[in-house]
Amino acid sequence: MFGNLNSNIVLLLCCMLLSLPLSAAPIPIPVHGHFAFSGNEFAARDFGNQLHSLPWAVLHPKKASDVAATIKHVWQMGPAASLTVAARGHGHSLQGQAQAPQGIVVNMESLRGPHEMHLVKGGPSSPYVDTPAGELWINVLHHCLKHGLAPKSWTDYLHLTVGGTLSNAGISGQAFRHGPQISNVRQLEVITGKGDLVVCSDDNNADLFHAVLGGLGQFGIITRARISLEPAPKMVKWIRVLYSDFATFARDQERLISAEKTFDYIEGLVIVNRTGLINNWRSSFNPQDPDQASHFVSDGRTLFCLELTKNFNPDDEADIDKEIKWLLSELSYIPSTLFVTQVSYVEFLDRVHAAELKMRSKGLWDLPHPWLNLLVPRSKIHTFADGVFGNILTDTNNGPVLIYPLNKSKWDNRTSFVTPDEDVFYLVAFLPHAAESEGLQNLLNQNRRILNFCDAAELGVKQYLPHYKTQEEWRAHFGARWEIFAQRKSAYDPLAILAPGQRIFQKSISIL
Ligand code: FAD
Repeated sequence: MFGNLNSNIVLLLCCMLLSLPLSAAPIPIPVHGHFAFSGNEFAARDFGNQLHSLPWAVLHPKKASDVAATIKHVWQMGPAASLTVAARGHGHSLQGQAQAPQGIVVNMESLRGPHEMHLVKGGPSSPYVDTPAGELWINVLHHCLKHGLAPKSWTDYLHLTVGGTLSNAGISGQAFRHGPQISNVRQLEVITGKGDLVVCSDDNNADLFHAVLGGLGQFGIITRARISLEPAPKMVKWIRVLYSDFATFARDQERLISAEKTFDYIEGLVIVNRTGLINNWRSSFNPQDPDQASHFVSDGRTLFCLELTKNFNPDDEADIDKEIKWLLSELSYIPSTLFVTQVSYVEFLDRVHAAELKMRSKGLWDLPHPWLNLLVPRSKIHTFADGVFGNILTDTNNGPVLIYPLNKSKWDNRTSFVTPDEDVFYLVAFLPHAAESEGLQNLLNQNRRILNFCDAAELGVKQYLPHYKTQEEWRAHFGARWEIFAQRKSAYDPLAILAPGQRIFQKSISIL
């Protein structure tokens, strides 16, 4: 069925070594899916829309064994061949991380489908869902809701793949309690850089399991993931309150993430020189006191918005209202700025998709996104706020700036993810779009100034969704964890075949 494999391999190798047009060479790999050699422009694009590298081929696998056979083949070609392989989730990377210049991109979404998800409700262990890693979180949610269940930890936007977020961390307003998404995984099926299919968990091939979580695609391609579930609520009370003073805002946030009785979701936003803020919210939020709220003028000030939710089912609404009232009474926000609404659980979790549709209609979704995500140690967050908000950051009109604290105790330090070295650290996410090329350059300069400020003030900041150009910078990012990261690379992907777009290791160059 697959022809003469050996002669095809020779032909492929000859083409590569002699730099002949590779599209002429048949791929000698036994797959159930197919390889595409044209129409692959989508694989050279991502949400960041700043780097574009065409792959040589895109694999549309039908089974995990297709991914294994492809990587095994590249592995067997040895170090002299420059071919690399990158998994592509939904292509929502920012800096080409899911691209493979002149290599093979694996389109993980072709492994997904409703019949590929298996949910186990209970029995001896708590419920979980087994899902293809190329599945979107929104589809995982809808599948689980049919059984009254849902994953515990989320990202703000659900049109991302399971494998894509588990390769980073998966952080949102539930992470203070449940940890990031990588803390809520029971088992993975992984294809290593040698083409071996390995099932791993805390008890079984544990080192690979921990390496892959937050591993930036460096140690293997995740083909399936087993995710912990909890009973899903039906509804959500969604609350926003404003502060004009950062210290009070941060104190309230930190108190809430450490309390026993607290909200289910805790995030925050910085608002600099934003006009029409309150009027914008009016469409979806009811101000508690419409009269007072209409007198609240936000223009020109730096404000901090605390965003909270409490889950509920219609039967317990009265109790939840009482609890919310009590929780809010402990906080020191500006009283006239209490905005409350209630929506279904799905509507809340999928809220960014609603914004996506609006932005798409205005042509704003496909613009370049020079995002910068930082993890700032709690002891340095006030220095950071003084130096950056209202100083380097002159407005937040091009996209939101999120800020919220996380509990380090909910992160597993055996994974590849590195956090700042304190019990509490803040995620600060600058999420702009750039309207024209001058705008892009200005935003990139702003990011550089923020990073320079952090370096000069020695804040001990780590990048989330990190992007560096040199291995020296990667070593500094991982710090004391670099040695183990590099050792794992040499164990699971010694030829540096996987995820070249992260620019951590280069194929054919010694790893250690
Ligand atoms: P891709 O971008 O396609 O891939 C990301 C990296 O992982 C690449 O290096 C790729 O090679 C690798 N990879 C992909 N799939 C696999 C796999 N199966 N196995 C191994 N490696 C793989 N992140 C958060 O944590 N919290 C948020 O709230 C959040 N909100 C977001 C909102 C928007 C609008 C966007 C665009 C992104 C957001 N993100 C958030 C970032 C998101 O986690 C990253 O974009 C991530 O890359 C997931 O996107 P993806 O599934 O498209 O993966």
